[in-house]
Amino acid sequence: MKAAAFDYAKPKALSEALAMLAEAGEDAQLIAGGQTLLATLNLRLSEPSMLIDITNLEELKGISVIGDQLRIGALVTHTEIEESKLIAQHAPLLKAAAPHIAHRAIRNLGTWGGSLAYGDPAAEWPACSLALNATMLIGGPDGERRISAQDFFIDLYTTSLEPNEILIATEMPIATSNQVFYFHELARRHGDYAIAGVALVANKAGNVLSDCTFTFFSVCATPIMAKKAQALVDGKPLNDELIANAVAAVREEIESIADITNSAQTKQHLIGVLLERGLKHLIA
Ligand SMILES: Cc1cc2nc3c(=O)[nH]c(=O)nc-3n(C[C@H](O)[C@H](O)[C@H](O)COP(=O)(O)OP(=O)(O)OC[C@H]3O[C@@H](n4cnc5c(N)ncnc54)[C@H](O)[C@@H]3O)c2cc1C
Repeated sequence: MKAAAFDYAKPKALSEALAMLAEAGEDAQLIAGGQTLLATLNLRLSEPSMLIDITNLEELKGISVIGDQLRIGALVTHTEIEESKLIAQHAPLLKAAAPHIAHRAIRNLGTWGGSLAYGDPAAEWPACSLALNATMLIGGPDGERRISAQDFFIDLYTTSLEPNEILIATEMPIATSNQVFYFHELARRHGDYAIAGVALVANKAGNVLSDCTFTFFSVCATPIMAKKAQALVDGKPLNDELIANAVAAVREEIESIADITNSAQTKQHLIGVLLERGLKHLIA
């Protein structure tokens, strides 16, 4: 199938893009890498009257360190994240996660901001942004606002972005020397969306983890933190008994939902498997 007819504009500045968005109303849609949107247009799941191509907006580009924060522009591609020295140094979780996103051709075009804005529960970047305590910087008709990743992902493919807003960038605390990271996902084939995945972040001293975040994705309507399991592990010497208790806790607190091919029971089992593997890896 082919997409329905639409108007097309390519603004050169954020202010121009926001003005276009305001004028065109809810019928307009932004396009970044197009790796999700083009498929939905061609399948006519979405029929916007106008596409606003944001790929010229300098304000949305680049990776930089500002004080103790790592800033990633919304237009940064998955490949740029995979290959960036700044990311490797200051957000190793993202470097570990990037190769799991689709295939090279898609990673070359798909963007950090497009993935966050789309809010796919099976996507890697929403989970990583939550695990790394990111803040979203959003431009709108009344200027800029900030919202934490915790409050950004609301429901299945639903974020707190309003139709007249543009995600500009995210900021997240840079990694500290005592922080450890683990990213893993279980998928049928490499490049497929995960059946279930996990991103773990913690401070490590000997065999004790603290300030833990255990974030799971592709199991619920949004990425989700296992707060009870986190609290259980936090600050205690990690041994087989504590890991088994954390696995039981995560299966109790998270209620997985089925997707088109995998049952809720499968996912419920896998979240425990992922947590056990991750904790053993972090402490090894
Ligand atoms: C075959 C295939 C396999 C894939 N596998 C994976 C995978 O394993 N994991 C994964 O995470 N993703 C996967 N993807 C999706 C891919 O990562 C996309 O690149 C990403 O989800 C969307 O980024 P994009 O830049 O292409 O956004 P687009 O397709 O251009 O836009 C997606 C949506 O976000 C909105 N949007 C884009 N940028 C902004 C912004 N700055 N502010 C506000 N709204 C914005 C658009 O209006 C649109 O609604 C796959 C895609 C394909 C085609």
